[in-house]
Amino acid sequence: MTVNARSIVGRLTVAIASGKGGTGKTLVATNLAVAAARAGSPVTLVDCDADAPNDALFLAPAEPQVREVTVPLPVVDADTCTLCGACRATCVYGAIRILGGAVMVFPELCHNCGACVKVCRPGALSEEPVRVGEVEWGRVAASIASPAGVDVVTGRLDIGEVKTPTVIRAARRQADVLHKPLTVLDSPPGVACAAVAAMRDADVLVLVTEPTPFGLHDLELAVDLGREMGIPLGVVVNRDIGATSEVDAYCEREGIPVLARIPFDRRVAEVYASGGLVIDGHPDGVGWFDGLWHAVRDLAEEDA
Ligand code: SF4
Ligand code: SF4
Repeated sequence: MTVNARSIVGRLTVAIASGKGGTGKTLVATNLAVAAARAGSPVTLVDCDADAPNDALFLAPAEPQVREVTVPLPVVDADTCTLCGACRATCVYGAIRILGGAVMVFPELCHNCGACVKVCRPGALSEEPVRVGEVEWGRVAASIASPAGVDVVTGRLDIGEVKTPTVIRAARRQADVLHKPLTVLDSPPGVACAAVAAMRDADVLVLVTEPTPFGLHDLELAVDLGREMGIPLGVVVNRDIGATSEVDAYCEREGIPVLARIPFDRRVAEVYASGGLVIDGHPDGVGWFDGLWHAVRDLAEEDA
C-alpha cells in the first residue's frame, strides 16, 4: 500500500544530521528521500552541506537551474566620507576600520547587517551585492523516484568564502518555493552555525551515528543541540555490528528511539562508493529505508 505523507502529517521537514562527518548522512538522506517518493510523497531533498555537497552525485537531477547567492557588502565613496567614525563605532563585529586616513571594510568579518550604511549621515556608504555561492535545483529521473518524484536543491559555497549559513538559508528558501509535502535536509556535520541554519524549524531530527566511542561523543553533542532547538529526534546507527554498543546504552538511557540500523556490510560500502543507491543496490536496502520512513513519520505523529 502506498502512503502519502501529506495525508498523515501535513507538510513535514526532516533534518538528517550528525555530530561529525563521515557517519553516513548523505547515504541516509538520499535513500530516505527516494523511499518516501516511492511510497507516494513528493520530496525536496536539500543538500545543506554547502562546503562539500554531494547528494546530486547520487541522484543526478536533470537540467538543473542555478542562481547566485549574494550578500550586500558596504562600499565607501572616499570623496564623500568625512572620516567621522560613526560606521566604525556602530559595527559590533569589528568589520569596518579607519586605517591610514581611509575607511576599510573587511568582508570576512562583515555580517551584512547594513547598520553602518544607516548611520552614515554624509551618505558615503552604500551596498553592493557580492557573490558567495550558488543554489542549484532539478528533478531526479522518474525511473529512480516514481511515483511522487524527488527534487534536489544544492547549496554550494564558493571556494574561499565563509558564509556557509547564508548559502544554506538560500537553498532552504528554494525548497520553500518548491513547496513539497516532504522536505529532507541533509545538514552539514558538526554543531556550529551551519548545522543550526540547516536544522532550524525542522519537525524531526534524524541523527546518524556509528557504534564507536567517537561516534558516541559526537552524537551526544548533536543530541544536546537538537534538544536545545526543541526538535524531536531519533538515531540511525550506521555500520552497526549487531552487538549492544555504548551508543545503544546511551540511547536507552536517554529515551532516544533507534529509528534504523544499517549493518557494517561490505556490499553497502561498495554500492555507496560506486555512486549507487543502497535502496536499489543491496538486497535489504528497501527494508531499511522503508522502515526508516515509517519510523520518521511515527516520530512526527507522536509530536503532533
Ligand atoms: S560613517 Fe560614513 S562618513 Fe563617517 S567614517 Fe563611516 S563612511 Fe565615512
Ligand atoms: S554591514 Fe554590519 S557587519 Fe558589515 S561592516 Fe556594516 S555594520 Fe559591520
